[in-house]
Amino acid sequence: HEGLWEHRTEGPARGRLRVLQLYPRDMNIYGDWGNTLVLVRRAQWHGYDVELVSYDPGDELPGDVHLVVGGGGQDSGQSRIKDDLLARAAELSAWASDGVPMLVICGLYQLFGHRFATGTGTVIPGIGVIDAETVAGPGRLIGNITLDTDDLGRVVGYENHSGLTTLGPGARPFGRVLSGDGNNGTDSTEGGRVHHLIGTYLHGSLLPKNPVVADWLLARAVEHSGGRWDPAPIDDTWADRARAVAMSRPR
Ligand code: GLN
Repeated sequence: HEGLWEHRTEGPARGRLRVLQLYPRDMNIYGDWGNTLVLVRRAQWHGYDVELVSYDPGDELPGDVHLVVGGGGQDSGQSRIKDDLLARAAELSAWASDGVPMLVICGLYQLFGHRFATGTGTVIPGIGVIDAETVAGPGRLIGNITLDTDDLGRVVGYENHSGLTTLGPGARPFGRVLSGDGNNGTDSTEGGRVHHLIGTYLHGSLLPKNPVVADWLLARAVEHSGGRWDPAPIDDTWADRARAVAMSRPR
């Protein structure tokens, strides 16, 4: 498989994780791949070996996946992957209900919901893992964003989307918007959570600036692999500085 990378930790491993990156060819924008790099590197620092597998349309979907990451994309990228995503809907939603942790951002967050009606009137069907639906608004929601979450503290990031997302009763928001727009700019919600899945509009700066979110995903992945989450202390000075700068920036 050409989209497979092995990353070994130093010394004896506490476990082994298989991370799947969904659609990196078409859905990887504003540094989304950086989230994957953070997950791999922190897993190694915590003492876990990582096998990173990429999945593009038509590839074989691997088994025994412990963590799924998917990025954003333009409407055209979403149109290119939509048929393949629908063909994988049953497997992906079974994984989600089984507790596989997932991080899906922007374009894939939208398509993990019920549908995305684009600005040109096309409706791109989603796989309905998240009870949410998205309709393109008249402009784009762009800029730095800060949220408060119930269990992961204050989260900072960057958003850039036309879609306005509304959550249904089956999803809870990822966070409450302190500054920025979030799901739709009107109801103060950002993102959607269900099972161990986080859907969000916050892009590739999400995990580098929010190590707590990265470690939450890794902890769920280790548990799903049958291992015990036994994190090592990590010096997060640089992440903390990046967070502080991001929070001090005007929109
Ligand atoms: N195309 C979608 C929108 O504009 C998603 C954008 C993105 O992933 N950045 O809403």
